[in-house]
Amino acid sequence: MTLALGNHIGGRSVPAQAGGTVDVFDPATGELKVTIPRSGAADVDAAVQAARAAQPAWAALGVPGRATWLAKLADALEANAHALACLESEDTGKPVWLAREMDIGRSIANFRFFAGAARHQDAPSFTDGSALHYTLRQPLGVVGLITPWNLPLYLLSWKVAPALAMGNTVVAKPSEITPRTADALARIATDVGIPAGVLNVVHGLGPEAGQALIEHPRVRAISFTGGTVTGRHVARTAAPMFKKLSLELGGKNATIVFDDADFDAALDATVRAGFRNQGEICLCGSRVLVHRAIADRFTEALIERVRALRVGDPADPQTQVGALVSLGHRDKVEGYLRLAVEEGGTVRCGGDRPTLAAPFDQGAFLNPAVITGLAPSCRTATEEIFGPVVTVHPFEDEAEAVSIANGTAYGLSASVWTRDLGRARRMGAALEVGMVWVNCWLARDLRTAFGGAKDSGVGREGGRWSLDFYTETKNVTLDG
Ligand code: NAP
Repeated sequence: MTLALGNHIGGRSVPAQAGGTVDVFDPATGELKVTIPRSGAADVDAAVQAARAAQPAWAALGVPGRATWLAKLADALEANAHALACLESEDTGKPVWLAREMDIGRSIANFRFFAGAARHQDAPSFTDGSALHYTLRQPLGVVGLITPWNLPLYLLSWKVAPALAMGNTVVAKPSEITPRTADALARIATDVGIPAGVLNVVHGLGPEAGQALIEHPRVRAISFTGGTVTGRHVARTAAPMFKKLSLELGGKNATIVFDDADFDAALDATVRAGFRNQGEICLCGSRVLVHRAIADRFTEALIERVRALRVGDPADPQTQVGALVSLGHRDKVEGYLRLAVEEGGTVRCGGDRPTLAAPFDQGAFLNPAVITGLAPSCRTATEEIFGPVVTVHPFEDEAEAVSIANGTAYGLSASVWTRDLGRARRMGAALEVGMVWVNCWLARDLRTAFGGAKDSGVGREGGRWSLDFYTETKNVTLDG
């Protein structure tokens, strides 16, 4: 049976005012599962009005009051964790166990962390003997949150939690492909008693509902996570309106393995970084740079490990790689595999469709691929594919590793594998990215700054950076 989701506006579930809907499919089976409202400017305006009406009372609760609500929401998410993981898996195609461990686990952690971070925030003050200057962090009002399909609840909670903790109210526009956990979050917020209008969700297409949100004059900030092309459009629209803007965009990240690295640990991490979540994480290491001295051995070991990855039913706890998010996205990834061959590369494993029993024979599955023999500057090796595909590139020395790693328009993250502390520090400084992991990958501490350089984004979120983003900083000077 197809379920019809509504928008969540002012604590109520409502259809789009114009009445249209958009179909949402399970990418693992191709089944139609849900419809969402095809919202437009009128729906977004209704959500913004509800958020505006709720904001003064929400702000007046103060940090302790709001933090208590966030903690209640985290507890309720935890109580519903398995059901949420199943929804996330059905929307995205990812394994249920991964959704439970990563998406839902980290969503719960986001609410708990930002409840604590808001409670523990401090603000600078200065005195020159006579005057006292102190800083107020005040809510912005209504903020707009736009999120992609790869980590739907995780990235939404990453924005909702600090925005609410700092006294704002929210209008969120999730990806049209993966709407269900945003809907569930809004319902759970209502169930636990978070006041109506504090968290509003408007579904629909990016160029319609998303566009109306970034254009709305009463929305004071936009936090956007998505592709670089869309991010450029969001900036073009929202920046001239002087909205605060946070843009978390695409990546083409390098895993850099030196010949002194712990070979097995580097290999494990290269496989995880390349293929976790079907390679659909902005931080995935889709370029594997290996020191020439170990390149052959490392590449052969990598291919063996990738061939052994289990692709299939997302509900099976043994599955390591689920379905890609849609048939259309698989087409895009397959297009890059054809391009790789045209550019002189060899697909050493994967890249074909697995043979799976019904209903998964209709799903967007793809065997994970390793490609060798490409120039690091070619399109396959510099454009974001966002699927289970890595390219391998040998390098001679540190300088060449840096040059290849920095040789794309992106600058999100890198993972460096070496036992040489001096080299680790030099690489940390030389890589043109927002985040460098040394001898680890995707090790997150929510107090640290998260974000990208170059075409990977503008601004930082996480810890105090999120608290700053979701507030207006005001200086007050007392004298006399
Ligand atoms: P996308 O196509 O850019 O979409 C992102 C969001 O923007 C979706 O909710 C989309 O809605 C909406 N949107 C599209 N056009 C819009 C418009 N004109 N105005 C306002 N909103 C609009 O990205 P995606 O394909 O969902 O996600 C994959 C991308 O996200 C990759 O590039 C990945 O690297 C990036 N990403 C970055 C990070 C990070 O932290 N840096 C994290 C995760 C993902 P519809 O889906 O309804 O069109």
